[in-house]
Amino acid sequence: MKLSSYVESVSPSVTLQFNQKVLEKLAHGEDVVKLTAGEPDFPTPEPIAEAAIEAIKAGKTKYTAAAGITPLRERIAKKLKKDNNLTYSTEEIVVTNGGKQALYNSLKAILEPGDEVIVISPAWVSYEAQIKLCGGVPIYVEALPEDLYIPSLSKIEKAIRKRTRAIIVNSPNNPTGTVYPEKFLKGLSELLKENRVIAISDEVYEKLAFDEKHISIASFEGMKELAIVINAFSKAYSMTGWRVGYLAARKEIAKAVVKIQGHSTSNVNTIAQYAALKALEVETDYMVKEFLGRRAYVSKRLEKMGLKFSFPKGAFYFFVDIRNFLGKGVKDSFEFCVELLEKARVGMIPGSAFNMEGFIRLSYASSIKELEKGLDRLEQFIKNI
Ligand code: GLU
Repeated sequence: MKLSSYVESVSPSVTLQFNQKVLEKLAHGEDVVKLTAGEPDFPTPEPIAEAAIEAIKAGKTKYTAAAGITPLRERIAKKLKKDNNLTYSTEEIVVTNGGKQALYNSLKAILEPGDEVIVISPAWVSYEAQIKLCGGVPIYVEALPEDLYIPSLSKIEKAIRKRTRAIIVNSPNNPTGTVYPEKFLKGLSELLKENRVIAISDEVYEKLAFDEKHISIASFEGMKELAIVINAFSKAYSMTGWRVGYLAARKEIAKAVVKIQGHSTSNVNTIAQYAALKALEVETDYMVKEFLGRRAYVSKRLEKMGLKFSFPKGAFYFFVDIRNFLGKGVKDSFEFCVELLEKARVGMIPGSAFNMEGFIRLSYASSIKELEKGLDRLEQFIKNI
């Protein structure tokens, strides 16, 4: 059967595929270590779960505005002001089904077929697919490990052409853990203003900026009209399954996104919206502290194994160089991860999913016990290659 050429142009999400493989093995009682998806292992904090139960009991189970409930949008506006120095009104905020929908609907709202979107590579797997599904063309600008995955502004400038509509800026970064410094973001904002290019700023790992302060590119002078800020509750509050995210953008874009949602999904699950409202009052420093301990542990272990990586300043990933092992029984990062899963029972994600061959991504959003087990197995696995 002939399917839409947009759908034919993309492959299924590799992060979700590998994660699913691990989950199936676990469901069959197999002893597998899951270091695949970026999904915090903490339970969703109790007050958030309680707020959802209260919402059900209070009968808050009907449709809401497609853009989301007003108290949540007001509270998000307050958060953006306080944490990010961004001024957005309630009408400029849209509650979405996770960060993914915020991103997809933003692209849908701004792209004409053939418009180009710059993606800094390595990049999260779904950027390319979403751009293509919206009729756009991804244009990759490479960021190298030796530059700590911060691309040069001149490379970005060269990638800007007549059809360039937007650039995706993801800091803290998935998969590299890079947190873009102020100097780079400021320079980039100047470039974008000069060329009238929109910054789609994916800030879902904002709370996990450890050694470098998280700065939103939307906060630089004159950037509000050119920025779409994307955020979500998944990583920050361990709410992956609740599917609540949001975007903040100038009115025309926010309105366009509401129009898309009004015809496609309507509002985000009402109960989950009330849970998200509560989440913004919940302290999650204990998670951040735990992640810091895990990062230190993983870094020590990888170093001891002689594996190379650029030390991640944020998010909860290590992007590990496996180029030395390729051609010796495994041909690429995909095969490496398949073998690692089948033979050593550890799930990780191949770098090729992030448009960078020769690397694998390890998520340390798992307990120290699991990390220890997974790293012991990885150590053994690479000894046998
Ligand atoms: N964003 C997470 C990751 O990169 C979850 C899976 C996905 O949505 O790709 O692992």
